[in-house]
Amino acid sequence: MRAAVWYGPGKLEIQQIEEPACGRNDLMLQVLRCNICGSDLRTYLSGSSSIKPGTVLGHEFIGRVLRAPDWSGFSAGHLVTAAQDIPCEHCWYCLHDMEHLCENKLEFGKHFQGAFAEYMVIPEIALRKGWVKRVPETMTENQATLIEPVSSCVHTQSIVSFKPSENVLIIGGGPIGCIHGELVKHAGAEAIVLADLSEARLESAKRFGFTSYVNASSVKLIDYVRENFPQGMDKVISANPSPDALAEAIQLVRKRGIVVAFGGLPKDNFTVQADGNKIHYDEITLTGSYAYSRKENDLAFEYVSAGVISADQYITSVYPLEEIVEGMKAAQRAEGLKVQIKIS
Ligand SMILES: [Zn+2]
Ligand SMILES: [Zn+2]
Repeated sequence: MRAAVWYGPGKLEIQQIEEPACGRNDLMLQVLRCNICGSDLRTYLSGSSSIKPGTVLGHEFIGRVLRAPDWSGFSAGHLVTAAQDIPCEHCWYCLHDMEHLCENKLEFGKHFQGAFAEYMVIPEIALRKGWVKRVPETMTENQATLIEPVSSCVHTQSIVSFKPSENVLIIGGGPIGCIHGELVKHAGAEAIVLADLSEARLESAKRFGFTSYVNASSVKLIDYVRENFPQGMDKVISANPSPDALAEAIQLVRKRGIVVAFGGLPKDNFTVQADGNKIHYDEITLTGSYAYSRKENDLAFEYVSAGVISADQYITSVYPLEEIVEGMKAAQRAEGLKVQIKIS
């Protein structure tokens, strides 16, 4: 089968490789589409300490079932998508209702081959534990491929309660920043400010109708916030891969404000120089937000189905598998939103 195989930073090759082995209790899929996630781009560009060369990346996918075990409830022809991580269900975190922080979790595009390939195997463990979702006929392919990233953003909503009438700043106008914006809007925020360094990206994000858009390469965010929200923002979500942006976010919230560190940082640039006194005297809460539970994955499915997330607005370019490197470069240029790879 054709697959995009990752061999290290900047090395992604389309190759003919063997079809993955599909056990009696596994599910075999023909991959239709898979979106490029920020983490795929980060791995492609700068590598990953936990992904081995020779891995097929990709986890925001929709596929058609070719064969499935009888007990699974799936059968040939069904369209499905799946969560990226499969927790073990027996470590301390799994037993304490924090399965997303599982010590032994298995991931597509890391422990299992991912979806930038013609075929993909969903292992029995993912089927048994309910991490695979049937895509109904009423759902578009674009909607299905967004359930995974929306789940991560829904998780932020369960860590931090966003209340009506709040003002929220999101630093990072990529797809994740926009998903956060739509969820915060759904929660009733009064003002949603989206900041990014790329004018093209801000232009793309205007389709979501947030309150304001700030180009942080020409306007200092601190000046913008002082002028428009003199007390500071109620909440700031840092949805980008920059340690400086996270340090800045801490300066931008009001007393008792909350800062969410959403974006993973590059493995060679993750140290944040933060103002400890601001955190102390202003009683700032700084929290990470990473991955999601099965309940949050279900809620993301509902939000996407109900149109809380305007899925079709996110896919701004589509490349065939053969041109995945071009797709990665387009994602890196950060002009549009999601880049999708069409596989079958
Ligand atoms: Zn992802
Ligand atoms: Zn576990």
